[in-house]
Amino acid sequence: MGEMFDADGRLHIPVDIKSKVKLPKSKIDVDTNKRYVIKEAYCPNGHSLISDTRINGYGGIHLIFTDLKDTKEVDIIISPVVGERKVMVQKGDVFEDGEVIKALCPVCRTELEILFDCECGAHVYVFYLDRQLDHNYGQSFCSRIGCSKSSRLRYSEDALHEFFKNHLL
Ligand SMILES: [Zn+2]
Ligand SMILES: [Zn+2]
Repeated sequence: MGEMFDADGRLHIPVDIKSKVKLPKSKIDVDTNKRYVIKEAYCPNGHSLISDTRINGYGGIHLIFTDLKDTKEVDIIISPVVGERKVMVQKGDVFEDGEVIKALCPVCRTELEILFDCECGAHVYVFYLDRQLDHNYGQSFCSRIGCSKSSRLRYSEDALHEFFKNHLL
């Protein structure tokens, strides 16, 4: 991945801040309640993160969360419905609101890529909606549990827009 990342491992992306936010319609279902549902999700190595375990009626997004010292670990399923904060703990430790986690792929245990830092100071992670790992077609979330700034799943391009709007203009 090389120069896509800076020294701290953050994505280094040239973003056209004036371009319209595109929604990857082929990767997202709109259900009868007009909710956006993620159908595909991949780690940086291309493993599918979609679980057989259903949450909000759909196959959830499966991740491993550890604390920053690797002393606690939880196996977690996140709602694939955009904007829903529902999670299911499969097994492992309890994390409290305000704790910062590392998010790992449940298959290869690779840490997800970092899009930028949230206003709360924690990393914002991204996972991908296609195997080409296009950051425009990613989903992002803050690594601080219960972060009020950006804890919901969001389209990464949408999150990038907001980030650049708040920090660069
Ligand atoms: Zn993986
Ligand atoms: Zn945050």
